[in-house]
Parts: sequence; C-alpha cells; structure tokens
Amino acid sequence: MKYKRILLKLSGEALMGEKNYGIDPNRLQQYTQEIKKVKEMGVEIAIVIGGGNIFRGVQAEKSGIDRVQGDYMGMLATLINAMALQSALEQGGMYTRLMSGIKIESVCEPFIRRRAIRHLEKGRIVIFGAGIGNPYFTTDSTASLRAIEVEAEVVLKGTRVDGVYTADPEKDPTATKYDTISFHDVYEKNLNVMDMTAFTLCQENNLPIIVFDMNKDGNLVELVKGKKIGTLITS
Ligand code: UDP
Repeated sequence: MKYKRILLKLSGEALMGEKNYGIDPNRLQQYTQEIKKVKEMGVEIAIVIGGGNIFRGVQAEKSGIDRVQGDYMGMLATLINAMALQSALEQGGMYTRLMSGIKIESVCEPFIRRRAIRHLEKGRIVIFGAGIGNPYFTTDSTASLRAIEVEAEVVLKGTRVDGVYTADPEKDPTATKYDTISFHDVYEKNLNVMDMTAFTLCQENNLPIIVFDMNKDGNLVELVKGKKIGTLITS
C-alpha cells in the first residue's frame, strides 16, 4: 500500500452520471463500492465533493443573483452531495463524519482540524462539505487546503478523463496523456488541472496530485497500491 492517508476529490458533475442534473444513484453506488475497497485496505480517507451537478457560483450572475450569494448557494449544493455520499457510505457499512465549512449544525459538525484528524485516526471516513466556507473559492481549493491541514499524502482528483493531456482530449483527438508532470510544467504549458489557487497550494506545500478516471472500477484501489494510473503531478 503506497498511501496511508488520502484526500479524494470528487466532482459534483461526475455524480450526475448519465443524468443532466442531480445525483445518479448508480454512480453513487459505484463510488461507494470503490471507496469501500480502499477502506478495507486500512487507508484513511478524507473526501471533498463538488457541487457542479446542482449549482455553481458563476452561474448565478447570469440569473441576476449576486456572486457571493451564488457562491454560498454552491457551497450548500456541495453539502447536498456530501450528505448523499455520507448516507450511501454508511449504508455500505462504513463509519463516516461530515464536517462543514459553514455553520449548519443540525446536519453536520463544523470543521475543526484536530477533530478531523482524530476521526481519520479512528478509521472514520471524513467528508468535507460546504467547501472552505468562503466565496470565490472552489472545491478544488478545498481539497488542497484540507489535504494539507489533515496531512494527507496525496490529492486524488477523480474525474471523467483519465489524466492530464497536452490538450482537451474531448475536443482534440491528437492530444496525448502525461504519466507524470511537474508542477512547473503544468504551469508553463497552461494545462488545466485545477484552478490556480488550488494548484499553488499543492505546489507550495509539496503535495502531489493524481488526476485519474474515477468512473473506471478498480482505479482507486490500484492507485492506492501504488500502480501508475492517471497523471501524477509532483515537484
Ligand atoms: N464554493 C465556494 N467556496 C468554496 C467551495 C465552493 O464559493 O470553498 C462554491 C462555488 O460557487 C462553486 C460551487 O460552490 O462554483 C460548487 O463547487 P465546484 O464548482 O468546485 O464543484 P465541482 O466543479 O467540483 O462540481
């Protein structure tokens, strides 16, 4: 086993599966099974989930909603996903805790770093909902920040694509995949891995990122075992 403590970032959009909006129950089940396999290996798991399948802050401005208000709506969207995931994981037999970046105490705990670490040590899966709790950030930034705070060894960014490409593979068929790439080269080549805030946090704190296809069964387990899957970004 290569990693003892991981931070798994799941996008809200991925949770949508084949649907146009909301949560695809099949996808939720698939994620639950993949996470369970890794949990059974004894890995400590922290999870950040996005909210793009429900609401994005930038979308708000077009509808006449103030940007900051929209961002808070986005944070609440991530909580809805986090609650769904928490429930699915618990039904799958795992112990979990949901910690929120904004105060919402009837449904979850507030984020307290030491407590989050304690939960991980006790084998609970910790889900960080509501992002960092501040507008103008993303759940990628949340993933980087929380990973550093709880001393995760790696950020595993599960996406629909299987890594970082020279160009967008969904648009450019000649695009090729990197197996590994440095933070510096990602920056120089202007490749789209995470937003700059999230990316810089990882770079400055020497926290590797692996971008991989979360929708392929077995990928998460193999990654944790140390198999080269997706694209590894390191210093
Ligand atoms: N958001 C925010 N602060 C945070 C995290 C999220 O304001 O710390 C808002 C932001 O509006 C964002 C939305 O929540 O667009 C949903 O998160 P994101 O777009 O990162 O989700 P994903 O793309 O991963 O589904």
